[in-house]
Amino acid sequence: MLIVQKYGGTSLQDAGRVRTAARRITGLAQQGAQVVVVVSAQGDMTDKLIEKAAQLNRRGSAREMDAYLAAGEQMSAGLMTMAIGAFGYAAVSLTGGQAGIHTDGVHGNARILRVEPERIQKELAEGKVVVVAGFQGVDPEGDITTLGRGGSDTTAVALAAALHADRCQIFTDVDGVFDRDPRIYPDATRFGRIGYDKMLSLIENGAQVLHDRSVELARDHGIPIEVLSAFTGNPGTIVG
Ligand code: ADP
Ligand code: ASP
Ligand code: MG
Repeated sequence: MLIVQKYGGTSLQDAGRVRTAARRITGLAQQGAQVVVVVSAQGDMTDKLIEKAAQLNRRGSAREMDAYLAAGEQMSAGLMTMAIGAFGYAAVSLTGGQAGIHTDGVHGNARILRVEPERIQKELAEGKVVVVAGFQGVDPEGDITTLGRGGSDTTAVALAAALHADRCQIFTDVDGVFDRDPRIYPDATRFGRIGYDKMLSLIENGAQVLHDRSVELARDHGIPIEVLSAFTGNPGTIVG
């Protein structure tokens, strides 16, 4: 059983939340599953980093922004790996490039061209949990790229496809996909299951719960995405 789990920013906001996720991950490892974890930057770090950069240069180069912003996810990967280690499990963190995620050179909105999963497979075969920094890849020049805001979802689906994962789970701060934003509309209804095209039209109408390219990729590979809460343990939504 190979499971890809992605944790978004709010799900990793502080040490307690990182530990909660690490506990779930090591629980799966204990049951004998191979686990690949994709992490976003903690909390609203990416917004904060963008603000900070703007204080110095409002028209900074897209290449430099990518090198800078990708660090948020890399910090999460390091922290998560250490949290898993504290539970007594072997884990390794990888940047997008180390994880074999190759993109085009469109800085700030790069598209994944291919995934070379050999390094991840080697680490899994050695019994490690593999923690991958989301939202990033490497372009043909060897430069760091980012996949567009919310792009860690796409990292998770791309890895699930390349590794032929049995499950792809996206952990977030709500109980799945709803007909409207459940934070704004408390009476919103959760979908138990939703098709790819309906999901894409929700996203087009502003539901940023999943990155659009992650859904396109899942559709193209026929991968069901499970969207669920990192906090409640409630059933979520199957996309696909
Ligand atoms: P993450 O940090 O886990 O990637 P996001 O902020 O990208 O989380 O996406 C989750 C948020 O999407 C929720 O907090 C919710 O407010 C918002 N959202 C907007 N529309 C919807 C919807 N239709 N269903 C679920 N969540 C939605
Ligand atoms: N941290 C990035 C962002 O805020 C990527 C992600 O969260 O998926 O857009
Ligand atoms: Mg997101």
